[in-house]
Amino acid sequence: MRLAIITDIHSNLIALKRVLAHIEEMGAERVCCLGDIVGYGPFPNECVELIRSKCSVVVAGNHDAALAGKVSLRRFDRAGQKALKWTQKTISEDNLAFLRGLPLVTMDQDLTFAHSSPARPDEWKYILAPAEAREAFGAFSTPICYVGHTHIPIVIGEDLSINAFRKGGRFLINVGSVGQPRDGDPRAAFGLFDTEKWSYDLVRLEYDVQQAAEAVRKAGLPKVLATRLISGY
Ligand code: ZN
Repeated sequence: MRLAIITDIHSNLIALKRVLAHIEEMGAERVCCLGDIVGYGPFPNECVELIRSKCSVVVAGNHDAALAGKVSLRRFDRAGQKALKWTQKTISEDNLAFLRGLPLVTMDQDLTFAHSSPARPDEWKYILAPAEAREAFGAFSTPICYVGHTHIPIVIGEDLSINAFRKGGRFLINVGSVGQPRDGDPRAAFGLFDTEKWSYDLVRLEYDVQQAAEAVRKAGLPKVLATRLISGY
């Protein structure tokens, strides 16, 4: 079975639609979402509804948890706070209830799914380098734990190797971000995993970044949230 793993959509409906259409074309059987469906962008309801209808696994990100009242807005930068306040006014009761009910970590098909580190997931730690992954490996028992949160794709092995995925080892895999990449490549990113071949690929996909940036500006959201879509940082 082929699974697509998506994360950090951040209310970017233009990127999400492009990614989901591509996943369908590729014939992946399931889509798993690692959270941060909302925050930053102008289409929270549309994105939550698409995720609800297309994903078989969904966990909460820190922006989703903030909207659900579980994380203080003070933990976000100014643009993030403004966007969350805007989203509070925009999100429907029904979609908010869905976000409120999401788990922080879940296991499915011998895989672990979390937004940030599976070790104390409510602390929303960033894993950017192998040394920061050490504690995380003690917090899951499956061969692979898929994560998001940093918006920067990376594969970290239990031996602290980087980007050297192979069958037999244990790995923490960050699949990048659909809606706000921060690795200097503005294309949408997501992961594709084949449970039979035990193969993993990171997929990058061009979408209409200018249209997405224009929608951010039109909604009156902070300008930096539009420009960073174009720069990819
Ligand atoms: Zn995020």
